[in-house]
Amino acid sequence: MDLVDLSHTLDENISIYPGDPQYSCCPALTVQKDGWNVQSISIGSHSGTHIDAPYHILEDGQTIDQVPLSRFIGPCIVIDATGKGPRERITWDVIRSYEAKMRQGAREGAIVLLRTDWSKEWGTPKYYDHPFLDSQAAQRILETGIRVIGIDTLSPDETHVHSTVEGDVGVHRAILGADGLIAENLTNLAAIQEGDWSVNLVPLKLGHCDGSPIRAFASRNITCA
Ligand SMILES: [Zn+2]
Repeated sequence: MDLVDLSHTLDENISIYPGDPQYSCCPALTVQKDGWNVQSISIGSHSGTHIDAPYHILEDGQTIDQVPLSRFIGPCIVIDATGKGPRERITWDVIRSYEAKMRQGAREGAIVLLRTDWSKEWGTPKYYDHPFLDSQAAQRILETGIRVIGIDTLSPDETHVHSTVEGDVGVHRAILGADGLIAENLTNLAAIQEGDWSVNLVPLKLGHCDGSPIRAFASRNITCA
């Protein structure tokens, strides 16, 4: 089986959404003092490679533990949205040619991954200036029946670093409002351009939580000639 890791490593250098909790992983017990190592982890529900449940923006939306496990796994459709510059909008023009594939894939629970390659800026200030999905384009994707969308940026919406007012979260509202799911901070999407890949975005079973870190990966069976 071919496996591709689509997750960033969690460490002190991760890019955190403005205002979200800081990440830490510190020794709580040590081999030297206690006989074994146990670490204490502090993490926001949207830190690192993770998935958003509808409850993230909807008071009565599904929490991550209520979403059926089967929805986090499916065949994937990678949309090539590379070549977009800082804070550039990904419009339907870029996505239109995948429409038939999405309509067909939606019947099998396909997961759409938007590849910008902005993941290479992970951990740098430039990571916040990522391209973002146009909310009309998000709506058009949802019209094909697709309900799980991932992206290799901090958010499918534009990220406002210094703004104190609520940012525009139109794409989040469209997807989560349709009982969809959003995976963010994916990486390595270039590695799954060719062939039939399945993607796995399984979260921790966190009770009453609006999202969860995930170990995202893609897999495909190798067929022998
Ligand atoms: Zn999130």
